[in-house]
Amino acid sequence: MSKYDRVFNFSAGPSMLPLEVIEKVAADLPNYNGTGQSVMEMSHRSAEFQQIIDDAEANLRKLMNIPENYKVLFLQGGGTLQFSMVPINLLRNSKKADYIITGQWSKKAADEAKKFGDIRIVADSSDANFTYIPKCTREDFRPDADYVYICTNNTIFGSHYPYVPDTGDIPLVADMSSCILSEEVDVSKYGLIWAGAQKNVAPAGVTIVIIREDLIGFAPEDTPIYLNYKTHADNGSMYNTPPCFAIYVAGEVFKYLESIGGLPAIHEYDLKKANLLYDYIDGSGFYKAPVNKEDRSLMNVPFVIGDPEIEKKFIAEAKERGLYNLKGYKTVGGMRASIYNAVPLEGVEALVEFMEEFRKANQ
Ligand SMILES: *Cc1c(COP(=O)(O)O)cnc(C)c1O
Repeated sequence: MSKYDRVFNFSAGPSMLPLEVIEKVAADLPNYNGTGQSVMEMSHRSAEFQQIIDDAEANLRKLMNIPENYKVLFLQGGGTLQFSMVPINLLRNSKKADYIITGQWSKKAADEAKKFGDIRIVADSSDANFTYIPKCTREDFRPDADYVYICTNNTIFGSHYPYVPDTGDIPLVADMSSCILSEEVDVSKYGLIWAGAQKNVAPAGVTIVIIREDLIGFAPEDTPIYLNYKTHADNGSMYNTPPCFAIYVAGEVFKYLESIGGLPAIHEYDLKKANLLYDYIDGSGFYKAPVNKEDRSLMNVPFVIGDPEIEKKFIAEAKERGLYNLKGYKTVGGMRASIYNAVPLEGVEALVEFMEEFRKANQ
C-alpha cells in the first residue's frame, strides 16, 4: 500500500483517480494559484474559473483531437439526463431513432427515448446475456432515422465495440461514459459523444458532451431551458452555475494524461493491464470471463467462478487484502474488476496474485 494507506479500488464508478492529480488538487486546495481561495469557493464568473474551464476544454480538445465544428459542453444531470436530452434535441425531422441494445445503459437510454419518438431496436444482445456486440451494417438502419444510438463500453457486462457502426449520413450518438480517454477515437465519425465523468475522468457531477454544431438548435420550443444543448453551447457551459469543482479536477486529469503521452500512451497501459488479467483468467481453469474475446472491455472485466458461496468468499478475502469493490453487478453476479486509467498496473498484479492463491486454496 502507498504512503496514504490507499487500497486498490476496482469500483465501476465513482472510481480511482490518478494519485498525482489527487496530490496536486490537495496541495492547491486551500489557496488555488495564489487566489486566496479554493476552487470549491470560487465564483464561476471569476476570471480564474473562466481560465480553468477554458483550459479544461482546450486540453480535452487536444487529447481527443476534437474537430473545430464540434462543441464541448460540461453539464450536470449525469448520464441519465443524457438519456432524455439526446432524443429531445436530436429527434428533429422524422422523429425516428434506431438503438442497438448491448446492456443495461443502452436499454435505459432506449426506454427513455420512447417517450419522445419512434424508437426501433435494431439489434439486442440480451439473447446471450450481453456477452457480445452485434455486428450492424448500414442496411440495418432506417434511412430516415434522425440518429443511431450505441453505448460503446458496457460497464456492467464488460463488453466494448470493436468497430464503429457505419451509419452513412445518419448521425451516430455514443455513450462513452466508461471508456472515454482510454483509446483514440475518430470524433468525426460521431454526431454526438457523451460521457459521465465519474468512471474514467473525474469525480461525479460533470457530464461531458461533444456535439457536432449542425445538430444544435432543433429542440422543440417548449423544451426546458436546461435540457436544450443550445443553451449550453451559446453560453460556454455557463448559462447557470456549472459543476465547478468536478470540471476543475477533470481539467487536471486532462493535463496529467497529456503529460504521460496522451491517449496512445494510456491505451497501451490499459491494454497491458487488461491482457494481464484476461490471460490469467483464460488460463486459470478456475475463473471464467463470459464475454466474447473480440468484444471484451479494457475497462470493466467481469469474471465468475460459478459457485455463489465461493464467489462471496473471494470478494470478502480480496477486501482483506486491500482489493476493494470486486463484487459483480447485482443482475450479473460473480465478480467485476473495473480497471480504469487510474488503476495502477500494480493493482492488477496484486489482484492476479491473490486470484492464484485463492484458486489454489479453493479449487
Ligand atoms: C454509469 C453509466 C451511466 C449512468 O450514469 P449516471 O451518471 O449514474 O446517470 C450511463 N452509461 C454508462 C455506460 C455508464 O457506465
